[in-house]
Amino acid sequence: MTTVKCTLQAVRQRIAEAAAAAGRDASQVALLAVSKSVPAAAIRELALQGQTDFGESYVQEALDKIVALQDLSLVWHFIGPIQRNKTAAIARNFDWVHSVDRQLVAERLSATRPLEREALNVCVQVNIDGEPGKQGVAPQHAAALVEAIGRLPNLRLRGLMAIPRATSDFGEQRASFAALRQLRDMLNRAGAHLDTLSMGMSGDLEAAVMEGANFVRVGTALFGARAGNPLGVAGVNAVWEMGLSQNVHQGDRP
Ligand SMILES: *Cc1c(COP(=O)(O)O)cnc(C)c1O
Repeated sequence: MTTVKCTLQAVRQRIAEAAAAAGRDASQVALLAVSKSVPAAAIRELALQGQTDFGESYVQEALDKIVALQDLSLVWHFIGPIQRNKTAAIARNFDWVHSVDRQLVAERLSATRPLEREALNVCVQVNIDGEPGKQGVAPQHAAALVEAIGRLPNLRLRGLMAIPRATSDFGEQRASFAALRQLRDMLNRAGAHLDTLSMGMSGDLEAAVMEGANFVRVGTALFGARAGNPLGVAGVNAVWEMGLSQNVHQGDRP
């Protein structure tokens, strides 16, 4: 089996087991493959295995890959910090934005969404553990932002996203994800229609699935370590080139 087949199957298996343990239907949990710093060829390999949803954090890097892969019908999610001068590029080229955390950004995304495209799906990013300096709206300000986004014509508000405080403690992981779920439920009781919780990454996806995640955003467990991680970009590319040439030699493409 090729590298991508192995890692994709392993991640799908983790999701399926966590869903089963939680008594949830695994079809309620979509896998968002986080492909930041991953070359287009590697995304193509995963797409050929049936993966449709990809997440990117850096606009320019993402646009190059979106163009290179436009022959595939992929769903592109923007999950990174949003600079004001990048809102139009995001609104034109992505299907989802998970990281909306202020009204001005939401307004600009709505104003620059091309009218011939469907409304842009958005999630509000919440700083669920109240960490200083972290992206995301404070939980107590989420309701006002949700209400403001609800008034924007070209956005479709889908749910909440969070990156909790990093911890390897399963109970703490669950507590943060439960807090996001409870915030979503509270907003829905107040009249919102949020059907999506975007939560869980390579290290904590089981806890997120247990607490109701609808998208888990997984990078490292699919593609290996990134820049800044021990292998670095060169390492990741080398691993990928090995994987790709292995596939070619084994004639193992679908
Ligand atoms: C990079 C990133 C991920 C993926 O993290 P891994 O630990 O590599 O799975 C998920 N969500 C966001 C917002 C990210 O920036």
